[in-house]
Amino acid sequence: MEETIVKIIAYGIRDDEKPYLDQWSKDKGIEVKAVAELLDESTVDQAKGYDGAVVYQQKPYTAEVLDKLASFGIKSLSLRNVGVDNVDADAIKRNDIKVTNVPAYSPNAIAELAATQLMRLLRRTNTFDCKIANGDLRWAPDIADELDQMTVGVIATGRIGRAAINIYKGFGAKIIAYDIFHNPELEKEGIYVDTLDELYAQADVISLHSPATKENEHMFNDEAFGKMKDGVFIINPARGALVDTDALIRALDSGKVAGAALDVYEDEVGIFNTDFGSFDAIPDERLKNLIKRENVLVTPHIAFFTKTAVKNMVQFALNSNVNLIEKGSDESQVKF
Ligand code: NAD
Repeated sequence: MEETIVKIIAYGIRDDEKPYLDQWSKDKGIEVKAVAELLDESTVDQAKGYDGAVVYQQKPYTAEVLDKLASFGIKSLSLRNVGVDNVDADAIKRNDIKVTNVPAYSPNAIAELAATQLMRLLRRTNTFDCKIANGDLRWAPDIADELDQMTVGVIATGRIGRAAINIYKGFGAKIIAYDIFHNPELEKEGIYVDTLDELYAQADVISLHSPATKENEHMFNDEAFGKMKDGVFIINPARGALVDTDALIRALDSGKVAGAALDVYEDEVGIFNTDFGSFDAIPDERLKNLIKRENVLVTPHIAFFTKTAVKNMVQFALNSNVNLIEKGSDESQVKF
């Protein structure tokens, strides 16, 4: 057998990721050991003898685990996702571990779900599905809205926001946007408003695509909902922390918000991507309150979960890991 120079261990590999990992390993002739378990104190010893580690998990990458990796000579850590907030920064710096992420695996994956859910809300498909299942084939009173008659306010025009704008434009919607940084191409189109208040006042649909920071936590609170148009539709495939769930529930109760599509939820960790066996067993009353509503579409953080995105997450991370090991750097390296 041909001798390989680099050896990588990949933690938390799911069944849907494995074929892309195997294909990459075969194409590159590089050995990759796939481990189903996440990287923690109980699994870190499996990394002994490898040159780099590829990982993806919501649970913390602790100082103890990172110290151990470094003691095995592993100084190359590649995350298959964007966020690095669960990585112990002090341990990374202390051990001189180089870390990469995958900043954009498929912006369209997220934008397509946003548009899908918006169209479902506008055409009241959830309500019709329920009516039809009960033998009620009448139209009224569930009359739809047409997107080409509406103004979509896009908050944040980064990679995903721009992909969403392209799709909404395809439906003929009028687009307005708000971002703290103006994209030069979109600036030429004159779509930016100067303040969130202007966007709230004009938008029939608000599509949220900004990162969550300390400053914008619960940016959609009672005050913000109060500034929005009556009957606004809210699309959030960005971050749960951006929306004050209690305020959203109040806005849904009052009719201020006509419908909401949520792919993220502020208390989603430990709940999304879990099978509770029955609806009643979901251990979160606020979430159940939202799911039960016909004008709310909850999905368990699935926007990224497409074949293209999963393939890119796996293979971009493996490429970055090899670059770190062989060249000592990679364009996706994260500064700590
Ligand atoms: P990006 O870095 O390409 O763009 C982010 C944009 O947000 C930038 O234009 C930036 O200027 C702008 N921004 C930052 N702070 C802002 C603020 N306070 N107000 C307005 N604009 C602000 O990011 P992206 O790849 O487009 O990701 C957007 C969001 O989507 C992130 O929250 C990300 O976590 C989320 N996301 C969700 C999924 C999913 O599966 N649901 C998958 C990937 C990303």
